[in-house]
Amino acid sequence: MIAEGLTARRVTIAGLVQGIGYRPALARLATDLRLTGWVRNTSLGIEAHLEGNSSDIASFLHNCQAACPINGRVDRLNVNDCQPQGFAEFRIVEQLTTGPVQTIVPVDLVTCHQCSREAQQLSDRRYAYELISCNQCGPRYSILDAMPYERHLTSMIEFTLCDDCRKEYECPSDRRFHAQTTCCQRCGPTLTNMNQAIQSLRDGQIVGFKGMGGYQLLVDAGQHHAVVALRGCKGRASKPLVIMVADIRQAEQLAHLSEQQRAVLQSPAGPVVVLQQKNNLLPASISPGLSSIGIMLPTTVAHAWLVDQVGPLIVTSGNLEGEPITYRADSQFTKLQDITSIIVDHPRRIVRPADDSVVRVMAGREATLRLSRGLAPLPLPGISQPQTDRHVLALGGHQKSAIALYNGRQAVLGPHVGDMDSVETRRRLVKHIHDFTALYSAQPTVLVHDLHPDYFTTVWAQQSAQDNGLRTLAVQHHHAHVVDGMLEAHIVDRTVLGLAWDGSGLGSDGTIWGGEAMIASKSSFRRVASVRPFALLGGQSAVRQPWRVAVALLQQVRQWNPSFAFQYQPAPLLE
Ligand SMILES: [Zn+2]
Ligand SMILES: [Zn+2]
Repeated sequence: MIAEGLTARRVTIAGLVQGIGYRPALARLATDLRLTGWVRNTSLGIEAHLEGNSSDIASFLHNCQAACPINGRVDRLNVNDCQPQGFAEFRIVEQLTTGPVQTIVPVDLVTCHQCSREAQQLSDRRYAYELISCNQCGPRYSILDAMPYERHLTSMIEFTLCDDCRKEYECPSDRRFHAQTTCCQRCGPTLTNMNQAIQSLRDGQIVGFKGMGGYQLLVDAGQHHAVVALRGCKGRASKPLVIMVADIRQAEQLAHLSEQQRAVLQSPAGPVVVLQQKNNLLPASISPGLSSIGIMLPTTVAHAWLVDQVGPLIVTSGNLEGEPITYRADSQFTKLQDITSIIVDHPRRIVRPADDSVVRVMAGREATLRLSRGLAPLPLPGISQPQTDRHVLALGGHQKSAIALYNGRQAVLGPHVGDMDSVETRRRLVKHIHDFTALYSAQPTVLVHDLHPDYFTTVWAQQSAQDNGLRTLAVQHHHAHVVDGMLEAHIVDRTVLGLAWDGSGLGSDGTIWGGEAMIASKSSFRRVASVRPFALLGGQSAVRQPWRVAVALLQQVRQWNPSFAFQYQPAPLLE
């Protein structure tokens, strides 16, 4: 029987609302207000059914945005009247939903302060547990088999909660109430080989490590010969390497830090931050010829423990140069075994690989140089479209490729995949396209690719379109950069004078373009000025060996002025 005076409301909340402990927070709020009903994750975000007296429901609605945990964000909240059903209590429920995902897919979060403290406390039952997590931290995107974000739709399904963890999971007042990744030493995945890894690092050897989004290669940053050995094994001649330090204090010993840079370093995404070096305390082989240095803080308790025991570490993605990050036991993993003395591993599957993200603060703004773990998938709210069945998949260019997807409900940018030079990276891109479109329940009908006919992404898009009867759309490289800038500046519907000072990209006149000025809207452009064309001696080689460009330019000067003479010695190859 339904009590007299009982009213009911249905609330839907859109935004970054899953994977951050919002459902438990709403359940606590409802229970405190003596409301009954349920809350669940859906493909839209969060949906709650509330029953109680109207003033308590009003109080819930007044406070529910403020109850959103710190890592989340409410974009929209809708409330509708509905029929009371006479629920006896308030519960968190699960619902399998179908259709395109409209809510924001949660991203991986570095270990929070509370979990770090628990792991250091001898009396805590998770003392020294390296894979500790809670509602505020831990892997999300990288372990997701499907949306919505529920434990049984992640690789945590393989770990059944022990009695103690189950009690916490079911207790509304516990901070791990409905924490989908929660576990402990007894019931969760545990790391192997940690002690041997510490010894190997101290001995100057290369250690493999299963990080959140994939395997990493670690060496002691204080040992020059270890850094050189890592470069040799990975095939990374001179590109800078990243240093993981214990804390902000240690970061400040190595680099200049502004308030903003400090905040980015300590943000829940935990990216690598490119900073200005100071003191030259570490081997020059880490960042040869550069005054900048990439620094990050520990991502997990395990990283923190290794840095504590060994000192600052070089942390780089676990793959040979030019290949994508290794994340499972395949042929790439075998290559990793060949170059490491030991691999710290655990049995939790990484479903979706992600490198460490790289951020640089420029002119007071955060510029993401590599969008990946903790930052991807990135919602692109500036692309507003009415709901449509036309789903769009945009392939990136040839270098630093990533894909973007529009599933008729939302547009998102996926994580960095890599340069399309190697077969392994191409395979990874194709797998990623299938996995990413499945995650968002997208069925692309339009494939967008670069104008360049020889890019792997273009060839794949055209072949796939032909095989499946899809449309393609070619986009000029520099126009894409300008529209990207418009999107970031929230002026995507305006016409702008856009400047794209990029590397090279095929122009619509069939020549290679570089520095371009264009009057551009999101759908068209007119080239109004550009860098004067010059010969690229050796084609693509000129991109990697800029002296070839200098020779071509000097040759051009001589054509204008025959009395001009020059001599050159080819420089030694840098890479
Ligand atoms: Zn935590
Ligand atoms: Zn447990």
